[in-house]
Amino acid sequence: HFEGKTCIVTGATSGIGFAIAAKLAEQGADLVIVGRNRARGEDALATLSKGGTRAQLVVADLADRAAAGLIHGRAMEAFDRVDVLINNAGILVRGTVLDGTDDEWNTVLDLNLSSAYRMSRAVLPTMMAQHAGSIVNIASDWALMGAQNATAYCVSKAALAQLTRCMALDFAAHGIRVNAICPGDTATPMLERAIADRGREATMSAINASIPLGRVGRPDEIANATVFLASEAASFMTGALVPVDGGTSAQ
Ligand code: NAD
Repeated sequence: HFEGKTCIVTGATSGIGFAIAAKLAEQGADLVIVGRNRARGEDALATLSKGGTRAQLVVADLADRAAAGLIHGRAMEAFDRVDVLINNAGILVRGTVLDGTDDEWNTVLDLNLSSAYRMSRAVLPTMMAQHAGSIVNIASDWALMGAQNATAYCVSKAALAQLTRCMALDFAAHGIRVNAICPGDTATPMLERAIADRGREATMSAINASIPLGRVGRPDEIANATVFLASEAASFMTGALVPVDGGTSAQ
């Protein structure tokens, strides 16, 4: 369903981002994947290109102000259009207002929120010229609820949810849809890092017990919902925040 469509996925070399890129490739998309690490990026590119997918790798740190323009430029150079933008790159830093530092606060807000803003600003004129486009922001169930010891992260994701709504309203008349996925705990390197220092077994069973469906999500389950929102199948959805969290945020 994505034949002839160009899809940009940030943070696409691991976890949820890679699963999203793989599903888009399966459905015929032309891809521009963004990651910081060249070796990991080349690996992802090789896997994604296997079925004949046309894919471009941009090695960039999204904290870099020039990155968004560079990524958009590469998409236009290679494919001459941008149909889908998936703002997936994100970092989790734990901490309360008291023990977090200003630097951590700024880093988390800059990547999780401002990089999505900059990426959107870079692609919107192209989408407006096409009178079509779909942006999906990967937020978190912690955009919908508070959580302990993760203030900057929760604030960044709640603000990303609000950016989603505001952009949906501002660009609906241009045929551009903007939605967000709110994943719950999902088996990715981010979750592994988050539990590594807390004793894996005990922590995993506590996490599983806190989720109504009794387990964490798989990256492909987050990717399914993301690709749906990106696609024409979701043509009447914009400004939606969609939890994919095993029921966690319904509690
Ligand atoms: P991950 O750490 O496996 O992937 C994050 C990706 O973002 C990586 O590819 C990383 O290289 C990239 N990235 C990080 N900083 C970057 C930077 N400065 N510039 C460019 N790329 C950068 O984690 P994941 O679990 O796949 O997370 C993907 C998204 O899903 C994140 O936004 C995360 O907040 C969100 N999320 C994850 C979970 C979970 O439990 N795993 C839950 C809710 C939301």
